Amino acid sequence: MQCPRCQSTAISKNGFRGSKQNHRCRDCGRQFIETPQTHRGYSDDVRELCLKMYLNGMGFRAIERVTEIHHTTIISWVKLSEAALEEPKS
Ligand SMILES: [Zn+2]
Repeated sequence: MQCPRCQSTAISKNGFRGSKQNHRCRDCGRQFIETPQTHRGYSDDVRELCLKMYLNGMGFRAIERVTEIHHTTIISWVKLSEAALEEPKS
């Protein structure tokens, strides 16, 4: 876990806010509530690599086997990139 302000990992627990664990950064004093580790996603490089494999005719399952990224994730990337490629309707 990191401080949202200074990225320090010197975090101490600081009681509870309601039912949430409150934390305090020992470096800058910032208090914050731990946010559930949201799915960070993959880097642009990884995403582009998957899209490249897809465009080269690889199936989603094959890409999944190579990259160990779930095929539904790859499908959503493909959909996103296809949506981005669409001509704006005007
Ligand atoms: Zn801090």
